[in-house]
Amino acid sequence: MAPLPKRKLSKGRRGRRRNSYASTKIVKAVTCKHCKEQKLPHRVCENCGKM
Ligand SMILES: [Zn+2]
Repeated sequence: MAPLPKRKLSKGRRGRRRNSYASTKIVKAVTCKHCKEQKLPHRVCENCGKM
């Protein structure tokens, strides 16, 4: 019998153990195709309002 955890970890606790939260903090910026401004990926550009 392999050792098993007594309880299922909630999504939050599982994330904390793997520390994936730390990697999500690193925000990558991409250049907007329309106005060449720095914007967040998958977000509407703050400068021109386009995706
Ligand atoms: Zn833009």
